Amino acid sequence: MTSPIFALFDPTYFLVIIGLVLSMAASGYVNSTFRKYDQYRSRSGVTGTDAANYILQQSGITDVGVTQISGNLTDNYNGQTKVLSLSQSTANSTSVAAVGVAAHECGHAVQDATNYAPMRLRTAIVPLANIGSSLSLPLIIIGVVLSFNQTLIHIGILLFSLALLFQLVTLPVEFNASHRALKILGEGLTQEEVPMVRKVLTAAALTYVAAALSTFLQLLRLVLLFGGNRDN
Ligand SMILES: [Zn+2]
Repeated sequence: MTSPIFALFDPTYFLVIIGLVLSMAASGYVNSTFRKYDQYRSRSGVTGTDAANYILQQSGITDVGVTQISGNLTDNYNGQTKVLSLSQSTANSTSVAAVGVAAHECGHAVQDATNYAPMRLRTAIVPLANIGSSLSLPLIIIGVVLSFNQTLIHIGILLFSLALLFQLVTLPVEFNASHRALKILGEGLTQEEVPMVRKVLTAAALTYVAAALSTFLQLLRLVLLFGGNRDN
């Protein structure tokens, strides 16, 4: 895209930097929150994998497999393959944080099983959002090169907004998964454990809010730079 050197003569680059800082702060916060509550062993003594298997079973979901993947906080649920992947730090840990993260991913499996509408919408938008993010900037650049071709530039900005739409639809999906997780886990957690799990899941949700804000700021920058009609 553009290098930070552009900030010197493009004041709107400031918006990109705000977005970067927000994303980094959110990611730092989720990591430190996870590390903090990874120290607290859940009283039930179950691992993330145990918790996931238990929740899936309790929810009557029999077609989802639980597996392990490498990486840190790479936990995810894949609706296409019906695989719930837990990172090693979640899968084998008996901490409050690990159980919370595992339960959150189960929340996605429950959304899938119950045809939760925002999740369906999110899945439907994925290809559009991918096209949008890969084509928008090239189109805008070509538009600028072709003496500010407004049609190309506007299509480029419109395509970029698809990426934002995807991130906005992601928000209810993520918040709802955590809400489901807390509800299901509530019975198995102690009074002290519930707020800990809530903090971990809220921190994780904030990374999605930061990502959406960052994309919004980038879109705003594109509109400020190229959105207006130019005479030249
Ligand atoms: Zn999630």
